[in-house]
Amino acid sequence: MTALQSDDAATITVRNPATGAVSGTVPIDDAATVAAKAAQLVAAQPEWEALGPAGRKRWLLSWQDWILDNAKRITEVLISETGKSYVDASLEPIATGDAIAYWANHAAAFLADRHPKAHSPLYRVKRFTTAYRPYPLVGVITPWNFPFAMPGLDVPPALAAGAAVLLKPSEVTPLSAVEFVRGWSEIGAPPVLDLATGYGETGQAVIEHADFLQFTGSTATGRKVAVACAQRLIPYGLELGGKDPAIVLADADLDRAANGIAWGGLFNSGQVCVSVERVYVEAPVYEAFVAKLATRVGQLRQGRDGDTGAMATEAQRDLVSRHVQEATAAGARLVTGGRPTGVGTHFAPTVLVDVDQSMSCVTEETFGPTLPVIKVADADEAVRLANNSPYGLSATVWTADAHRGEQVARRLEVGAVNVNDVLVNVFCPGLPMGGWKQSGIGYRAGGAAGLIKYCRQQGITAPRLSGQKSELLWYPASRRRMAITLAVIRALSARGRRRFGLRPRNG
Ligand code: NAD
Repeated sequence: MTALQSDDAATITVRNPATGAVSGTVPIDDAATVAAKAAQLVAAQPEWEALGPAGRKRWLLSWQDWILDNAKRITEVLISETGKSYVDASLEPIATGDAIAYWANHAAAFLADRHPKAHSPLYRVKRFTTAYRPYPLVGVITPWNFPFAMPGLDVPPALAAGAAVLLKPSEVTPLSAVEFVRGWSEIGAPPVLDLATGYGETGQAVIEHADFLQFTGSTATGRKVAVACAQRLIPYGLELGGKDPAIVLADADLDRAANGIAWGGLFNSGQVCVSVERVYVEAPVYEAFVAKLATRVGQLRQGRDGDTGAMATEAQRDLVSRHVQEATAAGARLVTGGRPTGVGTHFAPTVLVDVDQSMSCVTEETFGPTLPVIKVADADEAVRLANNSPYGLSATVWTADAHRGEQVARRLEVGAVNVNDVLVNVFCPGLPMGGWKQSGIGYRAGGAAGLIKYCRQQGITAPRLSGQKSELLWYPASRRRMAITLAVIRALSARGRRRFGLRPRNG
């Protein structure tokens, strides 16, 4: 049984990895098909931009209505191609609706012209404007772990900014993206959102036509995407892999820490870029924490109606197995779980203890339902080991002292930290979400920045006074006028005696 298989050169057949049942098919779009779709989107974009934020808001909120009205059906489509549990899948359409409303409702304020003040009195006679014009065509390439919510994070802000969008979903889970785009066309919205389905080659074809490329996926593919974008000199954002640490300090509420880390590590069967993937616990509470975590994880039920679902692919399940086997062979101990259940691609939720920093379950991204736990002497060792990773996506810190939690957070080399919480930043578009180090380039969301990233910025100047026939430095050249101008600039910007063209007394 495979999660997907290609019937022929033109089609992808999608299967439910939990059951093996065929869920649907999509075409493999070749370069010519992608070019034609891109051309149609670019032709429709100016009218979309001209609608302005208020006109676009109307369509975006109708789209939200459609998604909410169809949420149950979308959840079933999600389950049919991922093997997720119902609770995990049901989050995606609702979270997407929430994100659409945020961008629709804030776009007018976020995209409004800014009028920066002149930095010097010399320029107060000018009026300055910063204007935001969308990239005409934004390409969005997404992975398989959140087939609906991942487009839901990146497509709505691009549309709200006034861009047209060509979405290329993962070949493993394209059916939810079909629904995502179906909603847009069923409400009768302008034809500025389309879908290109296929493998990596289809993704490359999208890059060929995009004016901005937003990619979410593995670090290895992200590097290839960055090279392709550099060849075309187009800007891009990369949201890549992670290996998120959790730090449990000795004063933490261990019940909350165990419950939070269990959910943060196992939600979506651990197939979340910001999953808790390694847990550092201060020695005095190590045993007590492990006992609570093992109890919580040991109680979880698997399956469609359970707490956690299947792995999206057999390859992903086998990678998780390898990490667990390599850890136990190197001396780690299994407290609960540790193997595939034998049902579809399910892998039992797993807690590993006596883990050390050199094991593959700590050094490589697992993207599965495993929680390796490492004992540390103190917070300093926890921070040092947490930062000892090529990844820097996000982290969690658990402590009774909120101030100390924030201090530890600021020492971590990651793009987001949840103190006494997990994953929460992902659902809050007012906050930036981005990876440091090899976890990414650029940020998604982050309030106004989340829309402005899809725009080209234009600085405009105009004289405040009319009727002036010339300016100080215009022809004919004049040494005297130049000297006066330079003296004024110097006087307004330099320090001490240099303001008057003099050397400092002791300089
Ligand atoms: P992947 O890199 O294999 O594929 C991602 C997408 O890129 C797919 O649509 C794929 O078809 C496409 N692609 C493949 N080769 C390409 C190429 N040469 N040019 C253009 N596109 C190409 O990733 P995946 O296995 O689908 O997803 C899992 C990874 O995604 C994990 O590493 C995970 O951490 C990461 N992820 C990151 C975030 C984040 O926000 N940082 C979120 C979710 C997932």
